[in-house]
Amino acid sequence: MKMTNNLRRSGFTLVEIMVVVAIIGLLMSVATVGINHAIKTAKGQTCQMNIEAIEGAKQMWMLESKKGDNDVASEEDLKVHLKNNAFPTCPSGGTYTINSLSVRATCSVHSGTATPGAAVPGQ
Ligand SMILES: [Zn+2]
Repeated sequence: MKMTNNLRRSGFTLVEIMVVVAIIGLLMSVATVGINHAIKTAKGQTCQMNIEAIEGAKQMWMLESKKGDNDVASEEDLKVHLKNNAFPTCPSGGTYTINSLSVRATCSVHSGTATPGAAVPGQ
């Protein structure tokens, strides 16, 4: 009379648990790739909006101070025309170069990319 052979074993086998873990891992990797891409795109778009704000502030500074196309504003000059009187910062840690009024402001990280958020090095 062996009791162990008649007992019904409950629970999951090791293979079943491994399959579930593998599926969860696959789903996590797909989600992580998608989230990272969305974060990159959002940072690029935020940076482009900051550059637009800097360009607007440059225009206002030019009109207010009666400057020409080749004059270069400082961060202090532009702060009064920007939101919260603060110079914007790049979300990826880049630095903005204001440039003259005839040249668009650039970011050390994001400028040079045609589509915001695309081809961001080291992010
Ligand atoms: Zn940037």
